[in-house]
Amino acid sequence: MAATDGGMQDWPLLTWRLLDHAARNHPAREIVSLAVEGGTHRTTWAAVAERSHRLASALAALGIAPGDRVATLAWNTWRHVECLYGILGMGGVAHTINPRLFDDQLVYIANHAADRVLLFDTTFLPVVERIAPRLTTVVHYVVLTDRAHLPTSPLDLLCYETLLAGGDPAFAWLGLPESAAAGLCYTSGTTGNPKGVLYSHRSTVLHALAATGADVLALGAATRVLPVAPMFHVNAWSIPYAAAAAGSTLVLNGPHFDAASLHRLIVDEGVDFALGVPTVWLGLLQYLDATGGDLGKLTRVNIGGSAVPRSMIEAFAARGVTVSHLWGMTEMSPIGTIGPPTPEVAALPEAEQTTMRTKQGRALFGVEMKIVDDAGTELPRDGVAFGWLLVRGPWIVDTYFRADAPAVDGDGWFDTGDVATIDTFGYLGIVDRAKDVIKSGGEWISSIDLENTAVGCPGIHEAAVIGVPHPKWDERPLLIVVARPGAAVTKADVLAHLAPRIARWWTPDDVVFVDELPHTATGKLLKTALRERFRGHLTGG
Ligand code: ADP
Repeated sequence: MAATDGGMQDWPLLTWRLLDHAARNHPAREIVSLAVEGGTHRTTWAAVAERSHRLASALAALGIAPGDRVATLAWNTWRHVECLYGILGMGGVAHTINPRLFDDQLVYIANHAADRVLLFDTTFLPVVERIAPRLTTVVHYVVLTDRAHLPTSPLDLLCYETLLAGGDPAFAWLGLPESAAAGLCYTSGTTGNPKGVLYSHRSTVLHALAATGADVLALGAATRVLPVAPMFHVNAWSIPYAAAAAGSTLVLNGPHFDAASLHRLIVDEGVDFALGVPTVWLGLLQYLDATGGDLGKLTRVNIGGSAVPRSMIEAFAARGVTVSHLWGMTEMSPIGTIGPPTPEVAALPEAEQTTMRTKQGRALFGVEMKIVDDAGTELPRDGVAFGWLLVRGPWIVDTYFRADAPAVDGDGWFDTGDVATIDTFGYLGIVDRAKDVIKSGGEWISSIDLENTAVGCPGIHEAAVIGVPHPKWDERPLLIVVARPGAAVTKADVLAHLAPRIARWWTPDDVVFVDELPHTATGKLLKTALRERFRGHLTGG
């Protein structure tokens, strides 16, 4: 020990310690899942821990070595949680693949990661059978089911439950340095190839501990948490890890994302806290409006991935549910900022508080952020100046998986690709993604602000705003909307709704009604497709 060292224990921050903690200190706390085979499955942290050990030993027996990538193509269920911990506990890298990607992207990702095993739900057998001939590194295909539900296939399939039955419940977790690779997630790659973000055990544990905090996700042993955010999208925003650290009850919606199933699960399981992207909650709120149901014990919803419209915050408030806004990205594990009000914000009049809730919240400990101009000079935190948003911290990417050069500048700052303000309260306001901001006559228009104002118009279900080429102004905003079923809303209604709420020069040059808007694999509006389709809308091209 060097003379300058502290005298405390060296206890590497390894992910399996989170599961050990839950199993030892909250053994009977439940993990409730809607099963892929149907029905509701109930288990406990202790049972999941035992089965994770079995899986770890089975993977080792299949020849998987520390550092090897083991992929999952799976819904949020107890088995997927076991996969995470089992893979990490034997030193493997848990690569959670997003099944909503196209075949070519799936193939690219699995080959780039050099996945050796693919564990998947029966739902995805058709996809796996299609892409298997192009997967160059996968040697074992494991179906996350029991013998009775094992499908027949030209592929040589292994049965998950059979593997576990033969596994060793006393398998010893692998001791590793905390800097060792843990999870692997690819960005959805709306432009260019997807990029891999390789989390470490240390980054994952630090992020999980931070996530439980009172002003972050406020997780405790009494929390019954439903992450509708999928584990294949940045590890369900860290809930499988954070809930283990806190000893929370985990409620998982499996393959069911429809409003009726979510509603039933929330009420039946006494869920008090849920997390997910805006589109999920849009569906749920409309369902409740139509059916007259309530939300049971739900008191908090955490929404992120895209900006939350004010109308959604108000609709939840009317149902006694507080919305907290979360901003993050795959490169940030994912949490960057979060919304719970400071005492100063809580002292503001109600309407101003709601406005603050539409902002993306403040940085939690572990996230440094700043906004800079084109020259890299830091801009003031006055809520007005906007610039490139840069971040730095222990759970933020340094170098993408298998990339030649770091993704950060010489001082360790990562450019998020977002344009933002930071106000005097420290609240982040995402103006836009840099590539989505509309540049009209040298001034910038926020597509996010316009979209969120438009969805406040009665009869409008969803809205997208893109910049389309314009002979005089370079670009002008085009508003593309989906009306609610049966609503008789017109272009004039939408423009009349916008008029008192936006600067006049922000007024969209046209409003187009469509049946459906395209989305990315992570539920965001797919603006590249819209820009392509409407490129000539104002120029007649
Ligand atoms: P992708 O793989 O699609 O990039 P990410 O989840 O990593 O998926 O996306 C991160 C981006 O999503 C952020 O850079 C930001 O532009 C956007 N985003 C995330 N949360 C919010 C939010 N609360 N408000 C506005 N934009 C958000």
